[in-house]
Amino acid sequence: CGIVGYVGDTKTVDVLLSGLRRLEYRGYDSAGVAVLDSDGHIGTRKRAGKLQVLADDLQTLPVRDGSTGIGHTRWATHGGPTDVNAHPHLGDDGKLALIHNGIIENFAELKKELLERGATFTSETDSEVAALLVGEAYRETGDLAEGLRRVVNRLEGAFTLLAIHKDQPGVVVGARRNSPLVIGMGDGENFLGSDVAAFVEYTRKALEIGQDQIVTIRKDSIEVTDFDGNPVEPREFEVAWDA
Ligand code: GLU
Repeated sequence: CGIVGYVGDTKTVDVLLSGLRRLEYRGYDSAGVAVLDSDGHIGTRKRAGKLQVLADDLQTLPVRDGSTGIGHTRWATHGGPTDVNAHPHLGDDGKLALIHNGIIENFAELKKELLERGATFTSETDSEVAALLVGEAYRETGDLAEGLRRVVNRLEGAFTLLAIHKDQPGVVVGARRNSPLVIGMGDGENFLGSDVAAFVEYTRKALEIGQDQIVTIRKDSIEVTDFDGNPVEPREFEVAWDA
């Protein structure tokens, strides 16, 4: 439902939570974040219920701060609104965290294939299929954008996906098909959001991501390609917003 991604030196958890708060108007039943710290450790917290439940959890049991993170508010379509079904979902033996908006129509078929290869599922979501597939593709390619590229063409339906991997600190990758994703350009920091509300507090400079495109953000760079890996020049626009 709502998606935020961040790379930069502002406290990542704060950026993610404030972005998710600004996306609350869309409605949701669960929320979660994953933060990658400089030691290559991914801290994940996810809870059914209001964003405040997650925020309280993060107070009691903080994740280690890092410069790379993703946050999600879920509107359940596959699997009930539980802590376990909340996003992020993990792949590559917990080394990768992924969030998903939308519906993966052919998830049952992909799940069957993964189970035959010995994969273990912890949730009832369609989204976990994407987490496990991107995890496998990362193991083969050693590159998160390339891993995502290998998987997106196998997914049917609507999706915005964001992923981070413990071996790629300072990198958030995203992909979209029939579901929105925009880039916020900061100074030494960059953002991704399912809509500009996710980052309008920090920057008004935005870039459009077209249909069937993949984006990689780092602190000081933004790369966009199509699903075949050909570079794309995204269109810049100014966010008009009365914050
Ligand atoms: N289909 C996914 C799920 O049920 C994502 C739903 C959403 O867009 O929030 O977990």
